[in-house]
Amino acid sequence: MLITNGKLITWEEPNQILEGQALYISGGLIAEIGPEAELVARYPAAERLDARGQYVMPGSICAHTHFYGAFARGLAIPGPAPKDFPEILEKLWWPLDRALRMEDVSASAEVMLVDAIKHGTTTLIDHHASPNAIEGSLSTIADAVNHSGLRAVLCYEVTDRNGPVGARAGIEENVRFIQKQSSITNQQSAMGNGSSRIAALFGLHAGLTLSEATLEACREAAPEGMGFHIHVAEHEVDEYDSLAKSGLRAVDRLHRHGILGPHTIVAHTVHIDSREAELLAESGTWVTHQPRSNMNNGVGVAEVESLMRLGVPVCLGTDGFSHTMWEEWKTAYLLHKVWHRDPQRMNGMDVVTMGVYNNAALAGQFFHQAPLGVIAAGAHADLIFVDYHPHTPLTSGNLPWHMIFGFHESMVTTTIVAGQVLMRDRQLLTMDEEAISAHARQLALGVWERYNAQF
Ligand SMILES: [Zn+2]
Repeated sequence: MLITNGKLITWEEPNQILEGQALYISGGLIAEIGPEAELVARYPAAERLDARGQYVMPGSICAHTHFYGAFARGLAIPGPAPKDFPEILEKLWWPLDRALRMEDVSASAEVMLVDAIKHGTTTLIDHHASPNAIEGSLSTIADAVNHSGLRAVLCYEVTDRNGPVGARAGIEENVRFIQKQSSITNQQSAMGNGSSRIAALFGLHAGLTLSEATLEACREAAPEGMGFHIHVAEHEVDEYDSLAKSGLRAVDRLHRHGILGPHTIVAHTVHIDSREAELLAESGTWVTHQPRSNMNNGVGVAEVESLMRLGVPVCLGTDGFSHTMWEEWKTAYLLHKVWHRDPQRMNGMDVVTMGVYNNAALAGQFFHQAPLGVIAAGAHADLIFVDYHPHTPLTSGNLPWHMIFGFHESMVTTTIVAGQVLMRDRQLLTMDEEAISAHARQLALGVWERYNAQF
């Protein structure tokens, strides 16, 4: 396939905006970038995709989300509104995840995947919970992801909050899925054809719902070199709990259990102290920042600029909010300024470091057959078209501010993953949004009924 007539935002380092260049896509990769006339002459038979002057750029990447949260939209929490984050967990998320059946797991993933394609998010790192439908849940989600054509990294969040049987089932689901994915990957590389769009991590809910014994069991069950995906210090209660259980702060405790490292993702880190930040830096652990979620839950602001100064790779996620990554960019950009009462905080380039380069480096670990999140010869062909018409000069230097103040996800018209067009001129090609929404609305009645029955 030849993509012509686009302005290419490459997100190389340094970033470039190329005009008059075409992309030749083959085998799921950007095989060649070159002057349009030359590539058209060289590949006369190639299918053409005319970008009609739009910006063509790498698809967005979401470093932390929860597909299973889809049924929370519009849900009324019974009784007085939760007064803090622990109450939000107890009154909203835990009864909601217990209400999910396998068909709901599938439907919530489909709803979120449609949302991601429409908003130009092409890779998602999910963290799943469905305590009454654990076994096979990751394969159910993987089926939906495969159908959508997107990329995703999946895990099941192990927790003690549903008793030892639930914890054991969570561990087994991670192990089962990790083994299944590694055999698929091995088969594919043996056959030399393509690469999977699905990868696995070992999921843990958060230290506050994990006993010492369960953490140890997870460490033992996880294959050597496998990373973990866990919430850390989203609220002070995670630190209090960790000190009570182990005498250690939350990050120190995970460090002692061998959970940290260059393949592990910790979400939030709002309430860590300086030594915990150092431990994250020393171990090369990834941190994800979800400012919209933190604001919504009223948990505080993670000191992500300080973390980056220490060398911690900080990424951006949505935590299950709509997969509109530029909304997350804008929120981060604004939040840190008001929090510090300092307009110099959270420079546009800091947002790009998190949302573009760090997210791409993190996701690239899981799809390492080719570079991800960049327009370059040999990179994965995960691309979006953005119908943006700047009324001031747009350069590679001021692009972050055009994105923060001018880009909207509704301007995404075309979404491509591994060279497969998933949305063309706002028409979804792999998923039927109307049918998926209608089906989810039907299932929502049952989910909400089972949710309400717990009060
Ligand atoms: Zn989360």
